[in-house]
Amino acid sequence: MDKPKKEPVILNQSPDSKLCLNCGFPNRNTDSQCMYCRTSLIEDSGLFNWIRQTYYILRWRWQLKQKRDSLESKPPIYRSFGFFVLGVILSAAGIFVFTSAMSQNSFSSGLIALLLIGYGVITLKTLFSEK
Ligand SMILES: [Zn+2]
Repeated sequence: MDKPKKEPVILNQSPDSKLCLNCGFPNRNTDSQCMYCRTSLIEDSGLFNWIRQTYYILRWRWQLKQKRDSLESKPPIYRSFGFFVLGVILSAAGIFVFTSAMSQNSFSSGLIALLLIGYGVITLKTLFSEK
């Protein structure tokens, strides 16, 4: 399966242009053919045209979904690293607050500390259970 190399142009849409349903190229309203891929831009209400538009929209959605899936299947390493750092910081902060709460005999600080440790452990657990 080959990857779509063309980037669909969905930004910079001016009111006097219409987007090609096939490749997303912005064409002038007067154009009857896409300047980029030569797809017909004539809009009529015929059944064939409806099927063609539906096909293009479904295909475009499928391509976007493919792109999203490929991004999700390979999470960037810095994201996992960020989770790891966050978990460690939360746990460390929790332990620090907990020890100071113990020395001050403060119940509420102890609760906050347990909460921090809990969040830290959950963050680390999510990270390692992803694999
Ligand atoms: Zn086109």
